[in-house]
Amino acid sequence: MEGYDYCHRCGSAMAPGEVRGTTRPVCSRCGAVVYLNPKLAVAVIVEMDGKLLLQRRAIEPGMGKWSFPSGYVDRGEVVEEAAVREVREETGMEVALGSLVGLYSEPGNPVVLAVYVARATGGQLGASDNEVHEVGLFSPDALPPLAFPHDTEIIRHWRTEHARPKGLG
Ligand SMILES: [Zn+2]
Repeated sequence: MEGYDYCHRCGSAMAPGEVRGTTRPVCSRCGAVVYLNPKLAVAVIVEMDGKLLLQRRAIEPGMGKWSFPSGYVDRGEVVEEAAVREVREETGMEVALGSLVGLYSEPGNPVVLAVYVARATGGQLGASDNEVHEVGLFSPDALPPLAFPHDTEIIRHWRTEHARPKGLG
């Protein structure tokens, strides 16, 4: 398994093994097992003047398509602060974070995505990160091709529980 070629205890080769119902890296010599943790990512639905702030991805996966500002949460970092940081890094905007839309995970995928809503409070709109081609504002009713299968589900959840009628700020 990638990144786990050698045992942290004895240095022998690791091989995939079945441990408690899941395939995990197991040492062929001493039997040490690596219990891999999920990886937390955060995405933010930023509302600006009734539109949603999206970024066009400059890297795979989903290169050339659009997605929410998003990224990985650093170990020890407060999740909400990571969300604000990612929006700033990828779009140049400062935001006030709102409620959690949901947590998204799927079988076999190590990434767990936490999605928040946010309201833009300042900053300067522009792609400021080499992972982003461009940023844009889109009406929720006319979104461009989205990069990830769960994006549509996220938009649906946002629409049913979090979207505010236009003009109510
Ligand atoms: Zn070992």
